[in-house]
Amino acid sequence: MARPRDIGELAALVAYADRILPVGAQSSLTGGATPRGEVVVSTRALNHVGLGTDHTVRAGAGVALVDLQRTLTAHGLYYPPVPTFDGAFVGGTIATNAAGAATFKYGSTRQWVEAITVVLADGSLLRLQRGDVTASDEGWFDIAGPGGQLARVPVPSYRMPDVPKLSAGYFAKPGMDLVDLFVGSEGTLGVIAEATLRVIPAPRRAVALAATQSDAQAIAVAHALRDEAARRWRGDGPLDVAAIEYIDEMSLAQLPDEAFTRAGLPRPATASGMLIVQIEVAGDESGALERFAQVLERCGCAGDPVVAAPGDDRAAARLFELREAVPAAVNARVAAAKASIHPDIQKTAGDMIVPFHRMAECLALYRDCFARRGLTYAIWGHLSDGNLHPNVMPASLDDVVRGREALLEIAKGVIAMGGAPLAEHGVGRSALKQQMLRELYGETGVDAMRAVKRTLDPSWKLSPGVLFPERR
Ligand SMILES: Cc1cc2nc3c(=O)[nH]c(=O)nc-3n(C[C@H](O)[C@H](O)[C@H](O)COP(=O)(O)OP(=O)(O)OC[C@H]3O[C@@H](n4cnc5c(N)ncnc54)[C@H](O)[C@@H]3O)c2cc1C
Repeated sequence: MARPRDIGELAALVAYADRILPVGAQSSLTGGATPRGEVVVSTRALNHVGLGTDHTVRAGAGVALVDLQRTLTAHGLYYPPVPTFDGAFVGGTIATNAAGAATFKYGSTRQWVEAITVVLADGSLLRLQRGDVTASDEGWFDIAGPGGQLARVPVPSYRMPDVPKLSAGYFAKPGMDLVDLFVGSEGTLGVIAEATLRVIPAPRRAVALAATQSDAQAIAVAHALRDEAARRWRGDGPLDVAAIEYIDEMSLAQLPDEAFTRAGLPRPATASGMLIVQIEVAGDESGALERFAQVLERCGCAGDPVVAAPGDDRAAARLFELREAVPAAVNARVAAAKASIHPDIQKTAGDMIVPFHRMAECLALYRDCFARRGLTYAIWGHLSDGNLHPNVMPASLDDVVRGREALLEIAKGVIAMGGAPLAEHGVGRSALKQQMLRELYGETGVDAMRAVKRTLDPSWKLSPGVLFPERR
């Protein structure tokens, strides 16, 4: 693995290597950061951080978000679009357009990137400030390469689904900014060396956990909370909700008793699901939490919510750990099946998003597709964004095969609902996700992406096989 110490070394490496795979923390869930014989370029040493004026921070691609956040916290600042795994690097999260639980309020990484420095396939540097280069009316960018040579980069004409987060190949819109072409390009168009990110004053947060009795009730609560938040953002009402996470009944059942003990609460006796809600509280908090309790009551939720008081970040972290214990428990179960049943058993999971008003229909589709195939599964994730992760818990290799069939059927269903099967994790080298990308934009859409790549990386040097193969 190569570890360039600065941007100059990175550029030299890219210029001379035949095949490159840039990596950050390698937390990719799509095989995007898993090498297949390329020179693996770690950005770890590009870890400089400098606070700018006007609420910006300049950070090297190798800065872990947890470290970025620590630096920002010391100055009362915050970077909102942090994925659930905060060990991910700045470069990796830009490359995948990562999104956190609070996308509902803050959007995905894309909205927070002000400027980037990218090393192109020939080793030249492209420094882009948002607003400097936009697509021509005819639908292309002209990029000056070394020696003044011009590369004309076409903007694909496919229409992206209108959802709050999307990590499904190249961003494409009339008049788009060139920065946006690189955000979410998964290392296939250039290596991101550093970025200037927007930050905000650190919000004061409370976290509340509420038990629900059915998917329908969880969605009703989320619906009401989204409405409350929208009112608050219009300047009316006390309840500022930034994120609503959902854990379904089977997810709850995977949690060991210790997870509840660590969170400081008993395992709910009758709940069939749980909501974990992040509430932002500016000053006097009582109004917000009172309104929250009223929403739960109106939706028929039994029992009082468990609340981490505003500013009690430790208690909040304990509640979020309970949420994180779900994927950990499911992954452990998959690993155990792999060890004891068949070595080819793998995580078989989806990352679908639909417009929120289609959420009930979407969840019903998940359950129907898995139930018809007799599969055991758990569902959790970012309910406020319409982005839940269905995870099969395979007990055989056949379950993996049927799980993938189910996920493909779900992908087609969510596309028909105006959603996308590739919300935040990207496409990577997963054959299933690459198939989903073709379902979303058709073969011609993926060909349009190939045309973009060919202009910027004619020798197919950068992350070959990520997003799509070189040829159909
Ligand atoms: C427990 C867990 C929870 C997660 N939760 C979320 C979540 O809530 N939201 C979410 O969006 N994702 C989530 N992920 C997925 C993952 O963390 C994100 O995709 C993250 O953005 C990857 O960052 P990384 O630094 O690990 O990148 P890597 O995994 O190293 O790389 C990811 C891709 O980006 C490319 N890349 C990396 N660095 C660069 C660079 N400098 N320039 C160009 N290309 C580059 C790689 O080639 C690869 O294709 C989760 C993963 C785990 C394990």
